Amino acid sequence: MKAAHWQVDLQLVRQLRLFENVAASSINQLLKEFRAYDLDEGEILLSPFNRNQYLYLLLKGQLKVYLGSLESTSVSTLQVGDCTGEISFIDNEHPSAYVVADMASSVLRLHRQSLVNLFSQSPQMMENLLGLLCERVRQGNQQIINSEQNANVDPLTGAFNRRWLEHVFERESTRCAFNRQPLCMLMLDVDHFKAYNDEHGHLAGDYALCLVAHTLRNQLRPKDSLTRFGGEEFVILLPEMSAEDGRSIGERLRQSLQDVATFYAPVGVLPGVTVSIGMAQMRPKDSLQSLIARADSALYQAKQQGRNCLYG
Ligand code: GH3
Ligand code: MG
Ligand code: MG
Repeated sequence: MKAAHWQVDLQLVRQLRLFENVAASSINQLLKEFRAYDLDEGEILLSPFNRNQYLYLLLKGQLKVYLGSLESTSVSTLQVGDCTGEISFIDNEHPSAYVVADMASSVLRLHRQSLVNLFSQSPQMMENLLGLLCERVRQGNQQIINSEQNANVDPLTGAFNRRWLEHVFERESTRCAFNRQPLCMLMLDVDHFKAYNDEHGHLAGDYALCLVAHTLRNQLRPKDSLTRFGGEEFVILLPEMSAEDGRSIGERLRQSLQDVATFYAPVGVLPGVTVSIGMAQMRPKDSLQSLIARADSALYQAKQQGRNCLYG
């Protein structure tokens, strides 16, 4: 980071979020506490390994924020006017993220010693800093929500994954047993999917899996869980559903996929796929594994009976 000469540019200062609504008369005085610096592309401004004593305001260029490792994808991009380092600048701890210059950039830097001085001169600046801190806390919370959601969802199809199935089975099986309500499981497997991939390509196969997930999900109740159980296998948990109703729902799902002769995908028009389905109803003392095992052997029977049918 190289010290730079910066000619005060009031129009640019107005873009700095820390200076929003700060009285024009006090800006020149406040700016005396700041120093300008230039950063080369790729230069690390903040790192979790170095204590930070400064607040940085971005004057030119762009900064990227990385959590955990610099090899991961960046979690956010800072543009001209944004500030960074505000949390470690206040609590004098190590930053929780890396902040890296995405291109040649310039920043204004403020040492934490100047903090009290600045705020006594401009309560508005204090309010702005608090606003920026609140924004960071909300961003952090949103990232936690997103990562928890991502941990439960299959990225290709948007269906839940096995981790979620374990969680939801625990909850729904207990609830259904307590209320003396039945619970059903459908296990679905795409028919001749290897041949589909071989004929149309793996990418087409991926789109077919998305079609299956989309078609199934559209017909389920909010309390039903669609899970991608493995490659081309899906499990649906149907709480408060008798075997008879589970069978007719399964039959309807099977039929709805059979009805899709072709569908539009980014790679062109593709043929639809059919599924075989195994159905099993929960018994007292069933574990997730024992229920899955029965649905799986019913699925095996459906395959034996010629595919594109339901057994159980
Ligand atoms: P069956 O009717 O007996 O189920 O035959 P099948 O060909 O569907 O069964 P098999 O288990 O032999 O093949 C499953 C295929 O599913 C092989 C594998 O490449 C494909 N597959 C698994 N996961 C994915 C995926 O995410 N995308 C794509 N395109 N194909 C996948
Ligand atoms: Mg399979
Ligand atoms: Mg298959």
